[in-house]
Amino acid sequence: MARKYLSKSTFIKGVQCEKALYLHRFNSELADEISQQKEAVFQTGTNVGILAQELFPEGIDASPKDYTKYFESFKYTQQLINEGVEVIYEAGFCFDYVMCFVDILVKKDGRWHAYEVKSSTKVSETYIIDASLQYYIMKNSAIDIADISIVHIDNNYVRNGEIDLNQLFHSVSVINQAQNNNDYVKNKLLDLHTTLSKDSAPIVDIGKHCSYPYTCNFKGYCWKHIPQYSIFDISRLNKKIKWSLYNSRYIEIKDIPIDTKLSDNQKIEIDSYINQTEIIQKIKIREFVNSLSSNIYHLDFETYQSAVPPFNGLKPYQQIPFQYSAHYENNGTIEHYEFLADPSNDPREAFVKALINDMKKDGDILVYNIGFERGRLNELIRIFPKYQSQLESIIGRMKDLMIPFKEKWYYVPAMKGSYSIKYVLPALVPSLSYDDLDINNGSLASSTFANLHNVSDLDQIKKIRKHLLEYCKLDTFAMVKILEVLRSV
Ligand code: SF4
Repeated sequence: MARKYLSKSTFIKGVQCEKALYLHRFNSELADEISQQKEAVFQTGTNVGILAQELFPEGIDASPKDYTKYFESFKYTQQLINEGVEVIYEAGFCFDYVMCFVDILVKKDGRWHAYEVKSSTKVSETYIIDASLQYYIMKNSAIDIADISIVHIDNNYVRNGEIDLNQLFHSVSVINQAQNNNDYVKNKLLDLHTTLSKDSAPIVDIGKHCSYPYTCNFKGYCWKHIPQYSIFDISRLNKKIKWSLYNSRYIEIKDIPIDTKLSDNQKIEIDSYINQTEIIQKIKIREFVNSLSSNIYHLDFETYQSAVPPFNGLKPYQQIPFQYSAHYENNGTIEHYEFLADPSNDPREAFVKALINDMKKDGDILVYNIGFERGRLNELIRIFPKYQSQLESIIGRMKDLMIPFKEKWYYVPAMKGSYSIKYVLPALVPSLSYDDLDINNGSLASSTFANLHNVSDLDQIKKIRKHLLEYCKLDTFAMVKILEVLRSV
């Protein structure tokens, strides 16, 4: 059979699902669009990889100038090895129609040590398979491999001054697993090459593999037969139960057998959907509304995360608050407060000072999902103990607007089982929508702010800041409107 070349990523795709591999190779037009959020994840991986090279400085980069010219890279790697170079980045190897690029290859005491860098905080089964494939290719390329390790981010690291690479990264040898996986890799490669030699994609039904270990980019194509609201959307329903329902061909909510194990909230959700009824527990809602003071701040934070802590006192991936919006209701009048940090500086202390200043009027502070905002403020107290009493006072005034929806005191079918504000808002206030905004979700706001320091055009910066402010402002205005609906009950 005429063989097609596999790369490390297509191998991993094939391990996840052979149909995904086939579609990727022959029907890539069926793939879902790559979201900006996913792009940001790829970029994080690349940046971490480049930083980890400094663990073994002064290496030579063997990656191809043009990514279609792999073979030049394999030759160049071999040339560097022959010339006695002892640290090679992106070392390229190819054996039996499968190729790989090893992040860092280091010669110690005459033998080679390979390092595969990952931006996550632990070694997963998929990373071991990934390293096993690399080991298989290198071993068969006749280079003497003494060890192969996964270098990942250590989430116990706390930045204090310059980044300490030896503490930020943690290296774990996986040579034993890679050796044990030799036959698995060999047989899997045979299977995948066979799959790619077929005239049509293999028949594979949807399953857990569509989301694990990665969300497949053909879900839009393969999941077409699943209605927009199905058994997969029932809030907090165990995955095992969902797949067991699916495998028994119960897909629509109305078909769920009555003996299915469901919580009270799930029963409410299903009944409400089937009968298209609203659940409005007036007494509970009245108690909630009456528990609020007449002056209320509606507050929302935006945060971003970074694999490499950009400032002192931060751990990898710790949330960094950079923006808030607050609508203050006072006897029928509404004032708006907002803060958006300068991306070139540490935003945290400026955030704290502005927040303390803006929250100085009387009244409760309403947030949506109190655990998030309270968690961020407690972290800020640890970093800036001098603001402890003011921040603790803000925490003490916080109340959670999510409660009536989480407890299903107010539930309408349009919420589709969710109590996230992104579902509650269109269900309660359909006239308010995020659709017309350039930044229309929290993940996009985070990645936009995190990359803002790379933008040099002043007009562009102004435009982006405006979009960020608009987005966060709508979040708290939505809270005002949601509370209005609850009051009207
Ligand atoms: S969506 Fe699921 S079944 Fe379809 S290709 Fe992807 S993993 Fe395979």
